[in-house]
Amino acid sequence: MRVGFGFDVHRLVSGRPLVLGGALIPFERGLGGHSDADVLVHAVMDALLGAVGLGDIGEKFPDTDPRYAGADSCDLLFRVMEMLGVEGREVVNVDCVVACESPRLAPHIPAMRQRLANILGITPRDFSIKATTTEGLGFTGRGEGIAAWAVALITDRKPDEGR
Ligand code: MG
Repeated sequence: MRVGFGFDVHRLVSGRPLVLGGALIPFERGLGGHSDADVLVHAVMDALLGAVGLGDIGEKFPDTDPRYAGADSCDLLFRVMEMLGVEGREVVNVDCVVACESPRLAPHIPAMRQRLANILGITPRDFSIKATTTEGLGFTGRGEGIAAWAVALITDRKPDEGR
């Protein structure tokens, strides 16, 4: 088994939709960035890439590359899963924390877990997402941005049992 860790931050800016964990969340601001800036999915991708020693998303999907302008981060997550498949690995579980003062994320977490677990080929039970505020402290507390951390456990893909 191998473990990987990911961390990411994006600014909250006006004039952008808020895409988080693959869910479109109603809010007056969104995350700024080259892609859809889904900070949670970016942290998960870095955890997965880290677990298999394949670098990071900045290397795999450079933000200087116009192909990734406005990219759906869930598409990039799917590409990372293809890379893991080539390596003969599969995901055991993922656990994440999102630091966000507002909006309230709890109502959206089941949909995030469902969508992201589907992409990873695991059950929503094995894709944990927790949201927290930072009690008004720091850049997340001031609503300047959202931060996300993710840890992923990876194992060798089980041999085909002949089904
Ligand atoms: Mg990012």
